[in-house]
Amino acid sequence: MKAMVLRRVVNLADNRAPLELVELPIPEPGDWEILIRVSVCGVCHTELDEIEGRTPPSRFPMILGHQIVGRVEQAGRNASRFRPGDRVGMGWINHACGRCHLCRAGKENLCPDFQATGRDASGGYAQYTTVSQDFAYGIPEVFTDEEAAPLLCAGAIGYRSLRLTGLRDGEILGLVGFGASAHLVLKMVRHLFPRSRIFAFSRTPAERDFARELGAAWAGGFEEEPPAKMHRAIDTTPAWQPIVAALLHLEPGGRLVINAIRKEERDKEALLGLDYPRHLWLEKEIKSVANVSRRDVAEFLELAAQMPIKPEYQVYRLEEANQALVELKERKIRGAKVLRVD
Ligand SMILES: [Zn+2]
Ligand SMILES: [Zn+2]
Repeated sequence: MKAMVLRRVVNLADNRAPLELVELPIPEPGDWEILIRVSVCGVCHTELDEIEGRTPPSRFPMILGHQIVGRVEQAGRNASRFRPGDRVGMGWINHACGRCHLCRAGKENLCPDFQATGRDASGGYAQYTTVSQDFAYGIPEVFTDEEAAPLLCAGAIGYRSLRLTGLRDGEILGLVGFGASAHLVLKMVRHLFPRSRIFAFSRTPAERDFARELGAAWAGGFEEEPPAKMHRAIDTTPAWQPIVAALLHLEPGGRLVINAIRKEERDKEALLGLDYPRHLWLEKEIKSVANVSRRDVAEFLELAAQMPIKPEYQVYRLEEANQALVELKERKIRGAKVLRVD
C-alpha cells in the first residue's frame, strides 16, 4: 500500500516536505481489530505539532492522520461489531487500557496508556490502517466521506470543551479565539442552548465578522470589554494574554476551559498581570481539555447529523500531504483540508 511517513521531527520552515511517500505491506488486523481501506483522511493542526516535535510521535517512521473515514476491508477473528463494506471512522483516541480508575470512571481520555491515532499508532495518511473495533465509529449517512472526516477531530474536541464548560441554556458563553473548533462550537450552542448569548473574541476583523454572521451576539478583540460578564468561556488560542483578559470578564463562579495541547512561551509574562481579587476570586475556575473520549466522538457525530453541521473542505491527493501541511502552517485556509486517499 501507499503511505506518507514521517521519519523524524523536523522544522517545517527548513523542510517543506517532511513526509515521504513509501510502499508498505497492508497491515493484518489482530483478533479484535478491523482493517480499514481509507477513503479520506483529514489534515489537522496537531500533525504540525507532531512533525515539529511539540507532541512528537512515540516511534518512527510514523503514519500520521487521525480523522479517518473508510470502509471495513476485513475483520479480525473475534471482531464482529462491523461487517466488511461498512463505512467507519476513526478519531484521535486509538486506545485506552479500559481497566485503570480513570477508564472505569469514563475518563479514558486521561488514561496513562492513552494512545493517539497517527502519533502512537499508525494513522490514515495511507491506503489501509487497522484499529480495535471498539475505537471505530459508524458514520451517519447524511455525510459524505469528505464532510465526515473534519468532524472527527475539531468537532469532537469542541463538543468535549463545551461539555466541560457546564453551560446551561440562557447563560452567556465566551469564545476566546475563533478558529475551526470554535466555529463548530458556536453552531452547537445555537442548536443546544438557543437562549444563550455568545461573545466571540478574535484578533482578526474577518473572524469577528464570521462570528457575527454565524449568530454571535457580540464580537471584539481580546482586549475589548464585552457588553456583559460571561458565565463560561472556551479559550482556543495559543497565547496567555487572552486568558487573563477572559478571566477579568467572567461572572463569579464562572468557568474558563482551555482547549489547547500546548501554549506558546512567547507572552507568558502576561500571567504576571493576574490580579487575584479581579481575575480569580469569587470561585472562578480554570480547566483544561485533554484528548477526547469515544463518547465525545460518538455523541458529536450524532448531534452533527441532527443539526446538520456540514464543514467546508478542500481536497488534496495523498501524495500532496506535504503541500496541505505547509499551507495549513502558512494559514492558507479555505475550510478543512482533507486527503483523498482512495
Ligand atoms: Zn486533530
Ligand atoms: Zn486506562
